[in-house]
Amino acid sequence: MFDVIVIGAGPAGYSSAIRCAELGLKTACIDNWHDAKGQNSLGGTYLNAGCVASIALLESAKIYQLLTDNLKQHGIEAESVSVDIALMMQRKNDIVANLSQQIAESFNALKIERIHAEARLLSDRLVEITTHDQSASSILEAKHIILATGSSPVSLACAPIDNDFIIDSTMALNLTAVPKRLAIIGAGIIGLELASIWNRLGSETILLEAQESFLGFADQQIARKAYRIYTEQGLELRLGARVISAKKGNKKVTVEYQDSEGTHALRVDKLIVASGRKPNTENLADAEANLLLDENGYVHVDENCRTNLPGVYAIGDLTLLGPMIAHKGIEEGLFVADQIAGLHNSVNYNILPSVVFTDPEIAWVGQTEQALRAMGESIKTGTFQLADTARGQATGQTEGMVKIITNADSDTILGVHIIGSQASEMIAEAVLAMEFSACSEDLVRTIHAHPTLAKALHGAALAVKTHDLKSGSVI
Ligand code: NAD
Repeated sequence: MFDVIVIGAGPAGYSSAIRCAELGLKTACIDNWHDAKGQNSLGGTYLNAGCVASIALLESAKIYQLLTDNLKQHGIEAESVSVDIALMMQRKNDIVANLSQQIAESFNALKIERIHAEARLLSDRLVEITTHDQSASSILEAKHIILATGSSPVSLACAPIDNDFIIDSTMALNLTAVPKRLAIIGAGIIGLELASIWNRLGSETILLEAQESFLGFADQQIARKAYRIYTEQGLELRLGARVISAKKGNKKVTVEYQDSEGTHALRVDKLIVASGRKPNTENLADAEANLLLDENGYVHVDENCRTNLPGVYAIGDLTLLGPMIAHKGIEEGLFVADQIAGLHNSVNYNILPSVVFTDPEIAWVGQTEQALRAMGESIKTGTFQLADTARGQATGQTEGMVKIITNADSDTILGVHIIGSQASEMIAEAVLAMEFSACSEDLVRTIHAHPTLAKALHGAALAVKTHDLKSGSVI
């Protein structure tokens, strides 16, 4: 009998298993991910086919673009620059394998029992495990079970995946050649991150997005800026464009979509479907277990990640407690492990950073201006352009801005929104400030190293107060 069985070894699951073991609980972690060789690779989608893989490829694509487009302004010439996609993918795969191996080493060091199998929750905290080839199955028992099976891409009936011409986001990180013309269904976070990679490597990239608004979940001032920057980079963003069919023929895909002007057809070399993700709950629990799901398959949980079954928890992408973001899952994993060990902890869902790993990056924490205005909140805003920082000018990282929103009376920071290089790093200061209920005045009085891009946060805080901070004044 285990103290804890964790099902799933993505960021939520492996963090939770590690914390459980560190707290002295006898822990097993069951995971069904296998790589091309049929070997288990810990880390889930986030590591194997998500953020880490995507960031590794984007970095390669940025270097290629620097060498081909932007190097001359530095007074440097580079000739015969070419891309070897196989090597680029190998680098990415090595990074993934190395990180996965580090998780495995932590499991070994903490004596976490690692099981490569398909797990199914039965009643009374029993778990049935079946080997990948279905050749053997057995039943395990635990005092506590943590469900952390993550999510997978939503399929579209109008664009069935054939793993060749019409592919999902996982395969889009494993292409063997640069598509000449590429279409992506969905201009959400995944669609934009993939577009940023392949567009830089030379694909003519068209994003088809059913919504009329762009990045509707982000602050709209930032979204407008992002739209302009992405468009100038060469991404073709077609909004209000709902894909209705995709058919392959003659080594091309014909994509049909409708917008306000009628039906259009597009011929491309590859079509990526990035139309959202769904929780992996399909075969997670036996009907007799009576695990409560909602109509979209999300596990029903209370604010402590407890399901309707005693001793069974669900964390990460499986629940609607917060967005599908790796660090939300990690925090919940630690939180649940602490709960099981009798420790008190909590997850502050209100101060949770979000990042779009494009180039430039977009990062935010707290509320958007449009949400606050809709709530009737009395607010002040301050913005500062990266182009007005000495560091931005010296490094050429001039595209982007920082926006701070505060309560008009108390000056408490309600939201911080950044677009620009290093936005994912800069947002950490804003998260900390909000975690400590800081005011914009606190940021103004905080000394920022000079010259840095973080000075733009300082500048935005100053702008909340003064509003007469001249645009064009460099800090
Ligand atoms: P999404 O729901 O954010 O975006 C999918 C988009 O596809 C939507 O805007 C939708 O309108 C559009 N769409 C759906 N059907 C369409 C059709 N027929 N024609 C045209 N457009 C269509 O989903 P996603 O980008 O796949 O991301 C899934 C989840 O994973 C999100 O919750 C996201 O936050 C999370 N995620 C986060 C990160 C990160 O934190 N950096 C990275 C990857 C994924």
